[in-house]
Amino acid sequence: MARRPLIAGNWKMNGLLADSLAGTLANLMKSQQAWSFEMVVCPPFTLLHYLGTIIAGSGLALGAQDCHTRGNGAHTGDISPIMLKDVGCSYVILGHSERRTDHGEDDALVRAKATAALEAGLKVILCIGETEAERDSGKTLLVNQTQLRGSIPAGVHATNLVIAYEPVWAIGTGRTPTNPEIQDIHAFIRKELITLIGAEAERVRILYGGSMKPGNAGEILALTDVDGGLIGGASLKAEDFWAIAQQSA
Ligand code: PEP
Repeated sequence: MARRPLIAGNWKMNGLLADSLAGTLANLMKSQQAWSFEMVVCPPFTLLHYLGTIIAGSGLALGAQDCHTRGNGAHTGDISPIMLKDVGCSYVILGHSERRTDHGEDDALVRAKATAALEAGLKVILCIGETEAERDSGKTLLVNQTQLRGSIPAGVHATNLVIAYEPVWAIGTGRTPTNPEIQDIHAFIRKELITLIGAEAERVRILYGGSMKPGNAGEILALTDVDGGLIGGASLKAEDFWAIAQQSA
């Protein structure tokens, strides 16, 4: 089943107005007539509106890194999915392990956020992944199954849901699972998705995330059930991020 690769950049808490990264990527996108991949950048909230104007018309999509469960109201410091849509976002990353760890987000909260995001018309990049301790104790499949079942909202299909498998121990560490391990877990996630949403799961993109860089992207992106990447560190350098995208065809 042909699935158009998605190359997603998670900038985390990095980026200032003066930076040229988004503009450079937008120009690279414009220089390529037809893209075999889809590319989205997910900067911090503070940059969303401005970068939306910079990348407009380039083919580069805009995403956020989190959202609240509600559309508006008395929630000091939070950002609603309606606000993200308002500033031009089409995607939102939810359930990232750094949100789960730093902010105590559990599957139920991730699901509530995902439900609100879908209602606002955003596409959800739903992150799941095991810690090193869970991997070492043989719980990789169980943890990913539990997170997937617990955090996936109702009403998802291939055009509003992307899954990102991100082993926590691989994020920012320079370590990755072996390629066969990545393929096996992606195939497992797709099988699980089939039990949850039926045959539509064959069209849902499942991204790999965790220390993806130009040197390993080609092999990982070529795996049967890997449909793109969620990239942290390497998405902060236009050259590296673009080099990864070029290997996704
Ligand atoms: C991430 O945090 O989503 C990620 C994959 O980070 P890195 O590429 O830096 O490992």
